[in-house]
Amino acid sequence: MTDIFDRATEREEQQREDALSEARYQRAQERARPSAEECRVCGERIPLARRKAVPGVQTCRDCQQELEYRLVHGD
Ligand SMILES: [Zn+2]
Repeated sequence: MTDIFDRATEREEQQREDALSEARYQRAQERARPSAEECRVCGERIPLARRKAVPGVQTCRDCQQELEYRLVHGD
């Protein structure tokens, strides 16, 4: 009985660990990606200062704010 419970907990921890590794991997990929010169969403040029400040940036500030707003508030 205890054994089954322990194994279930172990599996849950493994899944959580996998999800964390996945998130870390994606963040690393994000950083490795070169900053885009133009916004992926609207095509505006992204200022050099922003590209330096945000490594791997793919969107201009306006579009990033829009995306973040949608993430928080839903579509
Ligand atoms: Zn944009």
